[in-house]
Amino acid sequence: MPELPEVEVLARHLRPALRGKTIRALNVRRAKVLRPTSLRQFQKVLTGAKFTGLSRRGKYLLFALRSKTSGEPVMLLGHLGMTGKMFLARKDEPLPKHAAVIFDLGRENFIYEDTRYFGRMTLDLSAAEKLGPEPLGQDFLPEMFAPSLKRSRQAIKVKLLDQTLVAGVGNIYASEALFRARISPELAANKLTFAQIKKLWRAIREVLAEAIAGGSTVPLNFAGGKSDGLFYFGRAAETPDYYEERLRVYDRAGKPCLTCKGEIRRMIQAARSTFYCPNCQKVC
Ligand SMILES: [Zn+2]
Repeated sequence: MPELPEVEVLARHLRPALRGKTIRALNVRRAKVLRPTSLRQFQKVLTGAKFTGLSRRGKYLLFALRSKTSGEPVMLLGHLGMTGKMFLARKDEPLPKHAAVIFDLGRENFIYEDTRYFGRMTLDLSAAEKLGPEPLGQDFLPEMFAPSLKRSRQAIKVKLLDQTLVAGVGNIYASEALFRARISPELAANKLTFAQIKKLWRAIREVLAEAIAGGSTVPLNFAGGKSDGLFYFGRAAETPDYYEERLRVYDRAGKPCLTCKGEIRRMIQAARSTFYCPNCQKVC
């Protein structure tokens, strides 16, 4: 499942590839992913619009465009959900079976593919507007993070997944950051000392920054296996050793802790897996 670093790496690759391209036509095969935007509205606003920029907010992509009819700026929100991929492909390549939205850019198609259709490609920006601060941004500070934690009795691992607390921390990096900060995932958020909060704040930033740096050094796979500059996101992420070796606890249950050689454990918190080292991350 794509998390903030994967979305950031994708945004960096798509940004120059899309800039200046005009949407000549739209082919929506799964109107579900546009919700709550109607197919009619989507077509009306985006047909003829030109891509002017791309940014990331949490795990969302924000595509900036300029409308053909009004000349006004338009924002389009993309989310990969569980299984989404967004990539450019040459016109003569067959469309993938689960292509949900196809943007005809002339020589290429920009494709949003999703086998489970849990992602989004919509004009409704409300999901991104509710997000907390960017974890790598300058406005995410321990002094701001602390009061939000002090108000919560939820286990810290569960609280970290609250996107209004901090945007884009998902299940993988929540476990990784807590391990790095040596904090038990079961500790109630309001029981963390300020020293622990500072350690956790730093750990969140480190695990995400390292994952982005690692992701951007992965050899890219190109559509059709040809080096035509069309980034095909998703295949790299499915290749073993893509990021697994960077993860110290996530999906390592039963394996030795890289710090103490004890056994990494898995438990379920709020219906999601948590991975941790009971020796390095004591509740105290
Ligand atoms: Zn350990």
